[in-house]
Amino acid sequence: MDIKYLGTAAAEGWPAVFCRCDACLKAAKLKGKNIRTRSQMLINKDLLIDFPAESYYRAMVNDIDLSAIKFLLITHSHTDHFYPQELVLRGGCYAHNMTSPKLKIFCNKYVKEDFDNYTKKELEAVVADTIEWHIIEPFDKFEIGNYKITALPAKHTRVENDLLFLIESDGKSILYCNDTGRIYEHVYDYLKENQIVLDMVSFDCTGGPIENGEESGHMGFADNVVVTERLKDSGVVNKDTKYIITHFSHNGRLMHSELEDLANPLGFEVAYDSMTIKIN
Ligand SMILES: [Zn+2]
Ligand SMILES: [Zn+2]
Ligand SMILES: [Zn+2]
Repeated sequence: MDIKYLGTAAAEGWPAVFCRCDACLKAAKLKGKNIRTRSQMLINKDLLIDFPAESYYRAMVNDIDLSAIKFLLITHSHTDHFYPQELVLRGGCYAHNMTSPKLKIFCNKYVKEDFDNYTKKELEAVVADTIEWHIIEPFDKFEIGNYKITALPAKHTRVENDLLFLIESDGKSILYCNDTGRIYEHVYDYLKENQIVLDMVSFDCTGGPIENGEESGHMGFADNVVVTERLKDSGVVNKDTKYIITHFSHNGRLMHSELEDLANPLGFEVAYDSMTIKIN
């Protein structure tokens, strides 16, 4: 799997949209890896996880053909993970010669409800026909293209079915953990019972140096360490497993190199916008 972190910020972006705090001003000045757009991951050329407002801009920067995306997995309905209005442009007179005529979206029912609410004024039938919706729940398993996907429960809003995604392809497995607090016990059990060995784990690290604790819907380094130890105890990772942290909030305040100084010794790689990783 060719993996690309298109965006690596929490909801507000970094610099945050309307913020003038020191951490945002510093990131804006330093630029480079300190500029973070909302979290999103691309796998190969056809599978996308989440669809924030920057999807269009990130596609231009990274030479990505968004019309070639066949499968879109949405973790939950928060705006930084799903910006439905953009999808009214997928077809008709707005999009000619699309590489993949159909887009299959896999999400919980709240995401679909948001899509229906936010697009009802502009969505044309010819565009609606290009999108195929699949409402999924935790522990649903399905095969799409070259991927076997398992939706697992995330600890986040506690209102909707927030989802983690286990993605298996060509004998490799990755676990995408956004947005979530410390992972639920039955997720470790599921991975163990199904003899999964993860090649990569992508962690919510919204807090950075701020510990979030057992009940939070997000994590920081200290929480990522707790989850990593539980994954190791469960035997679902090995010595070659990569641990990546992402979804950083300006409230964590650390610039990219400062995050690396603290996170690398703990065994975590710090994601940045456009970072690519090969899992094969
Ligand atoms: Zn988020
Ligand atoms: Zn700020
Ligand atoms: Zn969220």
